[in-house]
Formats: sequence, C-alpha cells, structure tokens
Amino acid sequence: MPIKPVRGGPPIPVDSPADVAVLIEHLARGDREPEWLGDHFAYLAGTRPEWFRPYQEQVVDGLLDRFSVALEDQCQLFAGAPDSCVETLARRLRDRRDFDDASALAAIGTPAALTAVAEDVRNGGDRELYDDSGFWIPPTGPAQPRFSPQRRAVFLELGDFPDADHPVGLPVDRVVADPASSPVVWHYLSLRLAGVPGLPSWPAERAHLVAPAATYEWTMFAGAGADGRYHGEQVVHDGEPDDFTDAPEFGLGRVVLRPYGPDLVYTNLHVHLTPGLVGTAGGPPIGLYPNPSCPSCKRLMFHVLTVTNTVREYGHGPRSLYLCEDCHTVAVTATNWN
Ligand SMILES: [Zn+2]
Repeated sequence: MPIKPVRGGPPIPVDSPADVAVLIEHLARGDREPEWLGDHFAYLAGTRPEWFRPYQEQVVDGLLDRFSVALEDQCQLFAGAPDSCVETLARRLRDRRDFDDASALAAIGTPAALTAVAEDVRNGGDRELYDDSGFWIPPTGPAQPRFSPQRRAVFLELGDFPDADHPVGLPVDRVVADPASSPVVWHYLSLRLAGVPGLPSWPAERAHLVAPAATYEWTMFAGAGADGRYHGEQVVHDGEPDDFTDAPEFGLGRVVLRPYGPDLVYTNLHVHLTPGLVGTAGGPPIGLYPNPSCPSCKRLMFHVLTVTNTVREYGHGPRSLYLCEDCHTVAVTATNWN
C-alpha cells in the first residue's frame, strides 16, 4: 500500500470515487486523525485529484480547520474550484486572518482566486505567507503563481550516462563560464527544463543546481548565458566557509523525472520516503523558508525544483533552484534540515 500513515492506524483504499466519499465522511465527522486523513488526501492529490472536485465547496465551507494537507497537494485538490469557494474564503479573510483560508485561496489558482489573493495583501494580509508559498503579489493586478502546477518526482540513478537529460556530477567547467574565479565547487545536477511542463522560457536547454564551498544556509545568484553556463555568481552566506575537498568521481549519475502516481510512498504528508526519490520538480516551493527575489527586477523568482543534498552528497538539507525568466538570472538556495 503506497499510503503509510505515521499514526492513526492502517490505511484504507483510495481506488474509487466511493472511497473518496468515505474519506470526506471521516473528515466531516472528525473521527480520524487529521494526519492520517492527510496522507490519504496526499495520495489522492498524486493520483486522481479530480475525484476531490465534488467536495471542494464542502471542505472550504466548514472542514478546512482539520484538513491537514500540504500546500503542494492543496494546489492539486483545490485547483479550479468554483468562484463560490473564492467568495467564501475572501469573505472570511476580510473578517479574520487565517493561514488555512489564505493557503486554500491561493491553491485554487483561478483568475478570481489570484485577484482575491492580491486584494487580501493590499488590505493588509500577510504578503510573506504568499511569497513563501510561491505566489507573487505585483504592485497592481492579480497574484502570480511562481511555479508550475505540474509536479514530477525526481529519482536518482547512479552510473555512467553520457547522454543523460538531467546529469548528476558534471565537472564545474561545464556549468560556469569562468571556473578559475567562480565560487562554484560542486555540481549536484543539471535539469533539462523541457522535462517539467509549465516552466517559463529560458535562454538555455538546462539550468544547474550547484554549490559553493559552504554546507548550508546560503543563496547563490548567477546570470545564465545561451550556452547555459553561469556567470557573475554571487554567494550570500553568513556562516564559515567549508573546508571543501573535491571528489570529481563521487556520486556520478543522472536524475529521472516521473509523474506523480500510485507508485510513490505517501507518508507524513510528503513522498520523500519513496525509495530512490531525492526531491520534486515543479510544484510550489516547500514554504518553510523565504523564496528569493530577483536581484535585478525584484520579482519573486520561479521555483524549478527542490532536492535534498543526497542527490550528490555535499552539505546538509534541501537545495532549491529558481529562475527569473525576464532577467536570465538563477538562484540556488541551501537551507538546513529543519
Ligand atoms: Zn528579474
């Protein structure tokens, strides 16, 4: 069974619309642990989110407070919810700030919902909450999702793959324009951007997740040329530099992208315990940390992927890749395990 609740008892099947009706009954009665239900809803989001559609209004109307579901899964389940849901959430937000209402409103993602998100912020709502979740509020107009709703599970395969779409462990001189002066010392992976539907246009075929000699809590900005190589790298890091030793033969391979589906392991509201999985491409950023804004135009940068340092062991914690399609600028962020 791909659903592995941490607590609350063994899972129940989610193989038909009737099974989803059972989940909603449990949610309405409040007779199961919210996290137990949440793992089932995460599975539903990863497999048949359209089966949730008949319940969008019911959950928004009165069940959100015990709907324990991560934003990335809410974005699947609430996507395209009717304007009645938007009106309900916007009305409640006008009366009272509420994290659950704000998240659900953003997750709906329709023009009406994105307009309501922007109005919430301009009425004094929590801009940071939306920023951290990957929704940018421009000076005028509706909020903009700065991520693709289409998620791909990222799997690591070790070995020699000279023609890999998404290579792991390239020599640094393949990915930066001036290796002698670059702070980049480590290559995690290069992503062929066409492998993730819904990413913005980019001057090069691939973008690179790389690291300076620092273990965590740094951000690196760089420009990208038409050959994909980075230039003008700037590292923001408050900690001590790491005593880095290069290991050019270590951990070489590729990542492979697969759509979400019933073959992932859904536990503790995420899929990270799936064997071989190192992260997710597409979807919103993880939301626990501030997302970078473009140093040039200040727009919230577009989240491309987040993997853990285990993709090619160096440093600690999640590593995320962002880009600004207007300025041809990338950001790589390295947070610690929380
Ligand atoms: Zn920019």
